Amino acid sequence: MISPIEIKVKLKEAALKLKFDDLRVCGTEDFSEADASSLRRWIDDGMNDRMAYLERAFNAKVSPRSYFPEAKSAICVCANYWRESAERRIALYAQSKDYHGVIKPKLLELAAVLEPFGGKQRVSVDSSPLWEKLLAARSGLGWIGKNTLLTRESNGPWSFIGIILTNLELPRDSALENRCGKCSACIDACPSKALGRSGIDARKCVSNLTIERRGGLSEGEKELVGKSIFGCDLCLRACPFGKNAPAAAMEEFRTSIVLSVRPTGEEVAAAAKETPMSRKFSSKNTA
Ligand code: SF4
Ligand code: SF4
Repeated sequence: MISPIEIKVKLKEAALKLKFDDLRVCGTEDFSEADASSLRRWIDDGMNDRMAYLERAFNAKVSPRSYFPEAKSAICVCANYWRESAERRIALYAQSKDYHGVIKPKLLELAAVLEPFGGKQRVSVDSSPLWEKLLAARSGLGWIGKNTLLTRESNGPWSFIGIILTNLELPRDSALENRCGKCSACIDACPSKALGRSGIDARKCVSNLTIERRGGLSEGEKELVGKSIFGCDLCLRACPFGKNAPAAAMEEFRTSIVLSVRPTGEEVAAAAKETPMSRKFSSKNTA
């Protein structure tokens, strides 16, 4: 009979073959009281802006098993999406094929590795209420930086995260030490002072205002947004750990977008096709 260690080895081999950068495993116990109360405070202070779904997701966020009661292990993978791009008005993650569509089939392929051993799985790539970045940090894929993102020594904050919850008990990895130290480059780089000791204030964050916010922006918010079209990478670009990031191993994440200085709605809609921008910009929306 195959041992849990051997199953994990198989999984890791399959993950690397699929061009994930790493695979690690953690438990699915509830997050600590401290984590839960800081999320509660963040929501109660209105820092989630109009993202009401974060409030609805609270229980599943702090308690992965309330989302999948049989879950004994969380298999966490990450995929670097760094590459150079001169187009700074669109966040880098949105300049290539939608990561949901790229990562999910690969997670399903990994999940299938577990089926012969009695595994029942649920996969998630930013597509469930799970607190994915905290699971990833618990598994030791990286740590949660002052940028509030999963941050890794090899590529800073430039990772997509995928999670597979399974009913199998697999050997666990340990969390890493937070390596931000005295650095505050991301906080200093934020033009709207959205980053601080209590996390990110989405009401001031250009990414939230240009991606998530539905309805109009106030004059002050328009000023914060400036020339940004979809997202903002200033805090990500400031991270010293991301400075020598290699180019993405997954070729789907190697493309970038180049728009003219004053792009028309049609130009943006054409560039947005099949990218994460498509839910906001489509020829229908710009007609
Ligand atoms: S994405 Fe931009 S606006 Fe938001 S926290 Fe980072 S630097 Fe600030
Ligand atoms: S910029 Fe500095 S403080 Fe911010 S996440 Fe990176 S290492 Fe941490």
